[in-house]
Amino acid sequence: MAFPDRAPASHIAAGSIRASKPVVCARFDDAGACGKRIRLGIMGGTFDPIHVGHLACAEQVREAFGLEGVIFMPAGDPWMKRGRGVTDAEARFDMVKAAVADNPRFDASRLEIDRCGKTYTVDTLRALRAHYPENVELYFISGADALQHILEWRDADEVGRLARLVAVTRPGYEIDDARKRYMRTHGGIRHVSMFEATALAVSSTDLREKVRSGRSIRYLVPQVVADYIEQQGLYREACRPA
Ligand code: ATP
Ligand code: MG
Repeated sequence: MAFPDRAPASHIAAGSIRASKPVVCARFDDAGACGKRIRLGIMGGTFDPIHVGHLACAEQVREAFGLEGVIFMPAGDPWMKRGRGVTDAEARFDMVKAAVADNPRFDASRLEIDRCGKTYTVDTLRALRAHYPENVELYFISGADALQHILEWRDADEVGRLARLVAVTRPGYEIDDARKRYMRTHGGIRHVSMFEATALAVSSTDLREKVRSGRSIRYLVPQVVADYIEQQGLYREACRPA
C-alpha cells in the first residue's frame, strides 16, 4: 500500500485550510483556542515499532481522564536507548502516523524528531506549554516502567510541574507500593496517577525479535504498520549499536 508523503506543505484542519506546517500536529494545534478548559494527552516513546499496547493504553487513558485527544510523540534521539541501533526517526514517525490515522482523537507530532540533539521530555513539555494556552492541561502518559526512571530525568521536578503524569502499568513491569509512594511525594512531582490498563504484554523489543526470526506480528501491530515493516524490510537483522 502507498504511504502518504511526510510533512506535507499544507494540512487541512477541522473546518479550515492550514497553509503552513503544524507546530505540534495538525489535529491539535488549535486545541484550547476556544478558551474552554481541556486536557491533552502526550504519549512519548521510541515506537520502534508502535504496537497495539501503545494504542490501547492511550485510548484507555484518554477515556478515563477525559482527554480531548492524545498526541503521540516519537523520540528523535532517545538517550536512554543508546547502545542499540534505533530505527531511523522518519520510519518510526511514518509508522506512528499510519497507526493513528483512523482515530480522530489521536495524532502524531514531529516536534521531537525535528529537534536536533538528544530527546528530553522536559524540553518537549516546555515547547508544548509555550504553544498551548493556559486552559489546556497537559497529561504526560507513560508506562509505569518508564516513569519509574523519572527521577533520573533531567529536570524531573519541572516535568512534574509542566504536566500531570499518568503511569500505566503493564504485565511484567509492576511497581511496588513503596516506589509508587516515593514517586507521588518526591519533590515537584505531585501529580502522578497510576492507571491500570487492560493488560497487553506486547513490547517493541519482542516484535523486533519476532520479525528478525521470521515469526508473525499480525494483530500485534495495526495492519498498515505490519505492511510498512514488510515493505521497508525493517527489523530483519539483529539491532546493532548506532
Ligand atoms: P522497547 O521494547 O523497545 O522498549 P516498548 O514496547 O517499551 O519498546 P516504547 O516505545 O519504549 O515501547 O514505549 C513508549 C511508552 O509506551 C513507554 O512509556 C512504555 O512504558 C509504554 N508501553 C510500551 N508498551 C506498552 C504496553 N504493552 N502497555 C502499556 N504501555 C506500554
Ligand atoms: Mg520501552
